[in-house]
Amino acid sequence: MTTPSISLPSSGALPATAPGWYWVVPRVAVALFLLAIATLVWWLHHTDLEEQRATMISDVLWMEQDLRFHLDRNAEQIAQLGREIADRRLGAHDIELRKRNLIANGHGLLGIGTLPAVAPDDRELAGPARLAAQLGRAVYLPPYRTADDDVQFDMVVPLGTGEGWMRASYSITQMLTRSVPWWFAERYKLDVIDNTEAVLASKSKVSVEHDGLSYALVFDPPGHGLRLRVTAYRSDTRLLPALLVVTIVGLALTMLWSLWALRRHLARRLAAEQALREEHTFRTAMENSLIIGLRARGLDGRITHVNPAFCRMVGWSADELMGMKAPMPYWAPEQAEQLHALHDGILSGDAMTHEAMELKFVRRNGERFDVLISEAPLVDTDGRQVGWMSSVLDITERKNAEALYRQQQEKLQFTGRLITMGEMASTLAHELNQPLSAISSYSTACLNMIEQGRGEVADLKEPLSRMNTQARRAGTIIRRVHEFVRRSEPKRVACSLNDIVEEAIGLIEADARKRDIRISCSLAGKLPQMMADRVMIEQVLLNLIRNGMDAMVDCADDRRRLLIQTSADTEGVQVAVRDSGSGIGADVADKLFAPFFTTKPDGMGMGLNICRSIVELHQGRLWFEAADGGGTVFILKLPAGA
Ligand code: ADP
Repeated sequence: MTTPSISLPSSGALPATAPGWYWVVPRVAVALFLLAIATLVWWLHHTDLEEQRATMISDVLWMEQDLRFHLDRNAEQIAQLGREIADRRLGAHDIELRKRNLIANGHGLLGIGTLPAVAPDDRELAGPARLAAQLGRAVYLPPYRTADDDVQFDMVVPLGTGEGWMRASYSITQMLTRSVPWWFAERYKLDVIDNTEAVLASKSKVSVEHDGLSYALVFDPPGHGLRLRVTAYRSDTRLLPALLVVTIVGLALTMLWSLWALRRHLARRLAAEQALREEHTFRTAMENSLIIGLRARGLDGRITHVNPAFCRMVGWSADELMGMKAPMPYWAPEQAEQLHALHDGILSGDAMTHEAMELKFVRRNGERFDVLISEAPLVDTDGRQVGWMSSVLDITERKNAEALYRQQQEKLQFTGRLITMGEMASTLAHELNQPLSAISSYSTACLNMIEQGRGEVADLKEPLSRMNTQARRAGTIIRRVHEFVRRSEPKRVACSLNDIVEEAIGLIEADARKRDIRISCSLAGKLPQMMADRVMIEQVLLNLIRNGMDAMVDCADDRRRLLIQTSADTEGVQVAVRDSGSGIGADVADKLFAPFFTTKPDGMGMGLNICRSIVELHQGRLWFEAADGGGTVFILKLPAGA
């Protein structure tokens, strides 16, 4: 038998470590993702600022237009009033009423005055008045700070050729107070600044702390370097984009965290997988190197796993065996019923599982072999039974060796007995030879004397008494032999004939199989016990069985059957050994039990003789009859009981 070496198979299809790019790709992807998120956040912020700026510009333009509209409308209405005054169409009361009305709705208009038709002599007003007359529209004068820290400016508007001018003054602070709507003031701080960036007037006193969004545009009219500057308050940051940014950043962080957690989990999993793979590889290598067959069955009796040793034993591949149910193809037909019962017993949990059983299996090529099977419940990690595990050991070689040993022992005993018998026979012959030849000589001498008529009757006395002495001596020798024989009398014990039959079959079975002979036996249910020497009766049975098998040497295969039957009647117990061999011819029938009678080339002819002696020692009988359908039946009858 060769011992398979353990060879570790390669780790399998999956590589133990991932290739380099395996980790680079997700890292690059994460970096790009973060970059994209940052860009998106920046872009959103930028777009938001742009939008705010655009809104602010449009708001400030609107504001500037609104102021201009009020200034232009005021100039027009003041010119109209001036013309009506010049035409003397209005009374002093009406003029005052119109002026008050204009000031009330004038958006910062403080006062209205008339200038004479001739050019004003006021040096400050002369220039602008002339310019207004030339242009035919209102001209605004530079702003000035008053004693109460208000910044004001004046305006001159021509009434027409030679009709003079009207003059009006505005307060910038009041202009802002009246013209700037609440929603504008809520969003922006509005300042009127001059060339030096000095603030001349403000809509709000609340200062803007940050260097936030601001925009300035020329405030013309009144001009003279005045500019409108708006600065957005911080509270203008809109909620939705901010919420969007926070959500995106939050999601990105969550994603990064989950990626990191996933990576950690993956690393642990890979390590566990590697350990598992190594463990599996080691176990597979161990299992493959076993010479014991392993077979696992589910609770429904289907095969779920077999190892290579089991496949080698039975000759079917693992794929073929997988999922097979009873009856298994490797069951020996003669044991099929027994195996089925055993199989059902194991599945139902009734059978003893801890005891090993000897069974007979058949290889795919028809060859029979003996196995020793141990069954044990298969339990999963939760402690639930999921099937049965069997270990199967091929014990054919061991059984063959045992049978061979038994045969050799039998032969040895047989030869020993023959030698003892031969020695006994030669000693007996030698011992008896002397007295017998002496008796023969004396009797010859006596006969000669009588025939020749020599001597007296008295002369015969001496040879006859010597003959007597020799005969006594022969008798003593025979008695001694008898005593020797008596010393080896059977050692009787209470025993069962059925047990002896089974034992004898067990001994000779291997031989029968080799000769292709089927031994079947039919044992009577309840046989009375008998007092006998088990070994001797077994010897008799073995001899009868062997003779029966010898008689079937030339028989056709289907006739090679030996039937052993036990029975009981009032006289005792009996066993019949029936063969379907050549039968016993009339010419040899009466010599069969004679010592040294044999028809076999290598026979001794002592078997039946010894058998009969043993049987007679047990007060039994041994005889034979012709069997129905050919062959012979030898019957051994022994008294039952003590
Ligand atoms: P051996 O077996 O050595 O010849 P045995 O005394 O056992 O001596 O048998 C004597 C002879 O009886 C055998 O040679 C055989 O011719 C004959 N004999 C015995 N048993 C049978 C049998 N079952 N059928 C036919 N002949 C038999």
